[in-house]
Amino acid sequence: MNDGTTRREFLGSLAAFTLFPLEQEKPELILHNGHIVTMSAANPVAEAVAISRDRFLAVGKNTEVINLAAPGIRKIDLGGKTVLPGFIDAHSHPAQAGLSHLRMVDCDLRSISAVQAALRERAAKTPAGEWVLGFKYDDTKTEDGRPLSIADLDAAVPDHPAHIEHRGGHTVYANSLGLRKAGIDEKTPDPPGGKIDHDPVTGKLSGRVAESAQDFFDKAIPHNFTRDDHREGVKLISKMLAKTGITSATEAQGNPTDLRAYQDARDSGDLLYRAYCFINYRFIDAMIEAGVRTGFGDEWVRLGAMKLVCDGSISERTARLSVPYEGRPNDFGILVMTEEELYTYGRKAHLAGWQIGTHANGDVGIDTTLRVYERLQREDPRHDPRFRLEHCTLINDDLIARIKALGAIPTPFSTYVYYHGEKMRYYGAERLNHMFALRSFLDAGIRATQASDYPPGEFIPMMALQSEVTRTDTKGNVWGPHQKITVEEAIRVGTINGAYASYEENLKGSIETGKLADLVVLGRDPLKENPSTLVTIPVERTMAGGRWTFES
Ligand SMILES: [Zn+2]
Repeated sequence: MNDGTTRREFLGSLAAFTLFPLEQEKPELILHNGHIVTMSAANPVAEAVAISRDRFLAVGKNTEVINLAAPGIRKIDLGGKTVLPGFIDAHSHPAQAGLSHLRMVDCDLRSISAVQAALRERAAKTPAGEWVLGFKYDDTKTEDGRPLSIADLDAAVPDHPAHIEHRGGHTVYANSLGLRKAGIDEKTPDPPGGKIDHDPVTGKLSGRVAESAQDFFDKAIPHNFTRDDHREGVKLISKMLAKTGITSATEAQGNPTDLRAYQDARDSGDLLYRAYCFINYRFIDAMIEAGVRTGFGDEWVRLGAMKLVCDGSISERTARLSVPYEGRPNDFGILVMTEEELYTYGRKAHLAGWQIGTHANGDVGIDTTLRVYERLQREDPRHDPRFRLEHCTLINDDLIARIKALGAIPTPFSTYVYYHGEKMRYYGAERLNHMFALRSFLDAGIRATQASDYPPGEFIPMMALQSEVTRTDTKGNVWGPHQKITVEEAIRVGTINGAYASYEENLKGSIETGKLADLVVLGRDPLKENPSTLVTIPVERTMAGGRWTFES
């Protein structure tokens, strides 16, 4: 391969050769009589597909495809049902969420007393001295109109240390014993990039701890998960994702343990989605030393980008903004890593051939991250680095132009407008026209993706479509109507754009001959559905690599 041939072209020509034997191959399964929306420009709608092993062998009209069938081959009549490519969730935390579902109390409840009851029940079954752990608590979704207090937690869990993660993942709530075990008292100073909350009147600890101050608990809570627990976590979340039509997901804050869990789950047959596993920057030295980089792996488990974090979160109102939060004139949010730190880690990864994905929500966070990426490309230009802006929530015209010039990929929250409507007032109606800005991205030719960020956001692809198309929450409030996109665009964002974000657009993301047989069969056609009921479209079956991963 000389310098004139890029690596990708070389791989492309290899793919053409491997297709040749497929020509003589007989299909093992034919799906026919469907309304197949392929997301392929050359052949946008088909009626049937033939599948051999894990790939599409043919895509076309019923008669063409059925003619390929040898006698006795399995044929499934789709009865006119709509088929889409399998959905790709480009930013989520599935392996870690699966582990949480295995062990922690699911605090996605609608009152503080319900949260207390769930924790009390768990405490009763927990040996003395061990932690009671909760997750998915959301202060804006309880009817009480106030956050969980240290007194609430002490009342529910008096004899065990307790640690409840907010749904957004950037704040936690602990009881008195939990704070003590973590080494936090009233005099503990805020660490850089973190905050230990105090009652503004009494100065006593409130129990709420934000951003890097959560590290106190990381040291105190024993991580006694076995290797098998990690595999079980992937198995559990696999079923949850497959049920909604997801066939690929990015593990957006992964580490070597997650990578091993994915391989274990793949080997035991429990992995039902293709994992693109990011690696947190803290592990990058060991990974580079091992000689691996982005792209290493196979179609089921692949190494993704190195993950950096620039600022705070949208759901917990800590994203770094240039204009303060509504009604909080001094609150601009927070920066988690300095620009110099982002650059230092970024440079290391960039030079070693890694893609970089940086969490950047607020306009200040995005500006800072782009400055780092621009500097990396200026100093050490790399072909097709596909820098990623994880979330990339609040944009303006200047940021859009720079994202386009860099060829960077934003992964905005897909279900937030619909699911987290009650948080939108903190940003205000005007600002919402520049948030989760799919219309702006697509108009500029930027390949934005579908991304749930589960657990913070819901991962249901049909909810993503409804949220993106209607920009309307569950109570009927419209947030940022300028950013509405069409159903067809939303499907593209959730399929082929997701494949591009992991350098796999030649492998998946559309229903085309030679690509992986990943698809979803829906109960109704989203292109004909009233946009306000898209979320109710049932998923009937999901297939990944020619195997049904979900059947209703
Ligand atoms: Zn995330």
